[in-house]
Amino acid sequence: MVYEDAASDTVVHDAGRRLVGIFDRPLLIDGREVLVRASVGASLYPNHGSQAEDLLSAADAALFQAKALGRSQLAIFTPELLATATRKFTIEQGLRRAVEQNEFELVFQPEISLDSMEMVLVESLLRWRLPDGRQAPPAEFLPITEESGLIIEVGNWVLRKAIETASQWHHGEWPEARVAINVSPRQLLDPDFVDRVQDLLREFDLPPRCIELELTESVLQTGPMTLDALRRLRAHDIAIALDDFGTGYSSLASLENLPLTRIKLDRSLIASIDSNTRSAAITTALIGLCKGLGLEITAEGIERPEQFAALAQHRSMHLQGYLISKPIAADLVVQVKRVIPHILHDLLLSIPAPRAEAKGEDFARLRSMA
Ligand code: C2E
Ligand code: MG
Ligand code: MG
Repeated sequence: MVYEDAASDTVVHDAGRRLVGIFDRPLLIDGREVLVRASVGASLYPNHGSQAEDLLSAADAALFQAKALGRSQLAIFTPELLATATRKFTIEQGLRRAVEQNEFELVFQPEISLDSMEMVLVESLLRWRLPDGRQAPPAEFLPITEESGLIIEVGNWVLRKAIETASQWHHGEWPEARVAINVSPRQLLDPDFVDRVQDLLREFDLPPRCIELELTESVLQTGPMTLDALRRLRAHDIAIALDDFGTGYSSLASLENLPLTRIKLDRSLIASIDSNTRSAAITTALIGLCKGLGLEITAEGIERPEQFAALAQHRSMHLQGYLISKPIAADLVVQVKRVIPHILHDLLLSIPAPRAEAKGEDFARLRSMA
């Protein structure tokens, strides 16, 4: 829409708000109420461009901002928006090149079992090797990968690489290898996803028990197709973990509704487990709840011996975090698997015994293992 006689920014602002407001009322079509929302991005002549094309792309950058603010919003172009849009565009172009030129890498972070005091699983984590040699973590590029739709291609690469690597371990030095693979909600909406996983397992001759897929609760927003994909994966004996549990809007409904095998307790919950009685109580209750539901549990982000000590009394649990091992390159995994029992041994001997009587027995068991 063009407002030819807008004398000031305020006029454009008011017009935009009116436009958004009109859509707040439902439309009546064939006796049914239909709700259509509008987002508005606006740019001003001549401040934001002298050609129609420039004004449109400025309005488009503003529209992007309006949508990022939520539903039914209005945004007017500012030069900062252009800088953001340009940065995103550059990263997106870089990602396209990265897909073509194979600039991605996987690193692997161990999870240990408190039962066996061994490394029993590694989580594959994506890295982007930039042309200058730096390894970029997912936080820097994953959101743009998802927004641009490139996540399907990147996700497929991750699946193939993780399954291929797991297969090398399984048929080589680590027959019981298990690899957890992070999956974004968009991937599960891809109708070919389940078949693709199956095909890859067949191609690399890997039993389904050797992988575990990790998803976050945001999959719940994607609807029945996702649930169907998850059920089919479970029917093929593929384990499914719910990542980052205990953050955001974590709800007990997802424990009930999703066909899960594991819950990963988020780092933020574990952060103060040794100092804050509330997070300790919440964690203990969640562990009890998961056990009652027959779900396996991993505590993420163990960084300090005190956190390890606070959890060491729980049986049949997995722990993961920098204290045990940071994410490592694939060719170090077998070596690290060998030293982890020693690391845990030293850790157990270094931490103070728990005060509570009830905790004593399991702890004594672990100590004797050490
Ligand atoms: P996540 O799946 O929850 O992975 C755990 C993240 O926490 C990893 O960050 C890991 O390096 C970090 N971490 C592990 N232990 C500790 C600790 O003790 N302290 C602290 N401060 N951090 C710890 P990373 O590798 O940067 O990955 C971030 C997120 O990106 C992942 O969170 C996951 O959601 C996503 N991601 C990673 N790889 C993939 C992938 O291949 N596909 C998809 N879709 N998402 C991925
Ligand atoms: Mg994960
Ligand atoms: Mg996590």
